Amino acid sequence: MAKHTYGLIGHPVKHSLSPAMQNAAFHALGIDAEYLLYDVEPEKLENFLKNATANNISGLNVTIPHKIQAKTYIERKGTLDENAARLGAVNTIKIAEDGTLCGYNTDGPGFYRSLVEDLGFEPEGKNIFVLGAGGAARACIMYLGNGPKRIFVSDIDKTKTDDLKAHYKKYYDERRLTVVGEGDFKDRLKECELLVNATPVGLKESDPSPIDASLLHHGLYVYDLVYNRPATELVRKANSLKLHAMTGLGMLLCQGAIAFEIWTGAKAPVAVMRKALKEALK
Ligand code: NAP
Repeated sequence: MAKHTYGLIGHPVKHSLSPAMQNAAFHALGIDAEYLLYDVEPEKLENFLKNATANNISGLNVTIPHKIQAKTYIERKGTLDENAARLGAVNTIKIAEDGTLCGYNTDGPGFYRSLVEDLGFEPEGKNIFVLGAGGAARACIMYLGNGPKRIFVSDIDKTKTDDLKAHYKKYYDERRLTVVGEGDFKDRLKECELLVNATPVGLKESDPSPIDASLLHHGLYVYDLVYNRPATELVRKANSLKLHAMTGLGMLLCQGAIAFEIWTGAKAPVAVMRKALKEALK
């Protein structure tokens, strides 16, 4: 058995790319650790976390459907970092030898790091359009906070955008976040320097672009959070218009690298992790 065990808890978890990325990182740095997948049903989550130390687990990633329940549990039994508390969701847990749990969320920081370092886009003072208002959009927007000049958000489900706006305004200047309906979509996007696709449109090879290519204006940067293929239709369309565009593989990598750094205290071997991710995707 490895000295330290890490892993992903979710339901389901079997298609995760995280083991390839994290195990490659442990191997590259000579750390005696392994990263496993744990399919845990929601009603068994608390028990799993309670027994984590007894099972030699030093750290976890948390995915759907456990991110909010894990936050609630750690709020009672451990400590939450500021970003996870503000977002209301945990995707990374560090477990001390005495069993103390500390909850983090690396989705927003991972998105931010990839946006700046991979896409070359600095969001501060810019106008940003986010398509989709689910968990991923929320993580990105709550991390961007008051940095951008304005954030526009649109979702086919209006309850999601309304919830997001209500949450955002508890922490930030609500005038910066505008919910956009279909009617003014085109005009609002025209004002923006960055488009983020935070919908699942693009996950399937046959998916169209979630927005018409005629709406992609000159100079727009495009970040598609979908990461399971080298290019989505949105990214292909943007590239054909010579726009800076990328898929979410960089975000996946960066959120994993930040989690690795939280667990081990070592600098993540990002190039090794990127290579492992790309190979696992094939
Ligand atoms: P989610 O909670 O299901 O949220 C997506 C939202 O988009 C839903 O409210 C959905 O509405 C809405 N939507 C669907 N089609 C739309 C359209 N054409 N126009 C506007 N809104 C639309 O999903 P999520 O967990 O936030 O994930 C979103 C995407 O981000 C997924 O592709 C996921 O793989 C990706 N992601 C990437 C990373 C990364 O590291 N790169 C991390 C997390 C998530 P309905 O529910 O009504 O369909």
